[in-house]
Amino acid sequence: MYLKALELNGFKSFAEKTVIDFTNGITSIVGPNGSGKSNILDAILWVLGEQSYKSIRAKDSSDVIFSGGKNRKAKSVAEVSLIIDNSDRYLDIDFTDLKITRRIYRSGENEYLINNRKIRLKDINNLFMDTGIGKQAYSIIGQGRVEKIISSTPKELKELIEEAAGVKRAKTEKEESVKKLNDIQSEVEKIEYVENDLA
Ligand code: ATP
Repeated sequence: MYLKALELNGFKSFAEKTVIDFTNGITSIVGPNGSGKSNILDAILWVLGEQSYKSIRAKDSSDVIFSGGKNRKAKSVAEVSLIIDNSDRYLDIDFTDLKITRRIYRSGENEYLINNRKIRLKDINNLFMDTGIGKQAYSIIGQGRVEKIISSTPKELKELIEEAAGVKRAKTEKEESVKKLNDIQSEVEKIEYVENDLA
């Protein structure tokens, strides 16, 4: 599995459709201050489902939509897509080529898509869980992240290690099952209460 390309359209400083191809090996992005290098990393985090606008250096949802320039009108929608080669089926989905898209409108409405079909944010989270690629994973180390990792609390560090070790999915599934069991238990108690009342 590898990231083949990133498409941005209306996201932050990328007013028009911009495609960044990642060929094999190392890709460096260079440019003057303020030219949009960090916006590219923000776009990757955002398409992976980042919900904290602070983490991608924005005030709110509309702040990621191109706000207009000298000769350009503001955009009403921002869209970012990750193009992934999944021929080794590293991601547990039966597609060789994957296009993961997130779109946001000025109204604040978000849309997530896989290969142009609408999906839920939960599906994105599940797809990337334990792969090291998700929004909180260790594959994206932005400015200040190393210092943040070094000064993490033991709990935060444990979460990072769990993601790297691939146990986060099992932990999440266990938590969901425990919640379901508790819900069922309280339903059973309600039924018993009614039964006792009728007896
Ligand atoms: P540095 O090298 O200083 O870290 P950089 O190349 O990483 O800079 P970024 O921080 O990615 O630059 O980009 C900042 C630019 O993005 C600023 O010029 C800012 O005005 C622009 N920008 C951010 N959000 C928007 C938006 N919603 N609409 C238009 N431009 C935006």
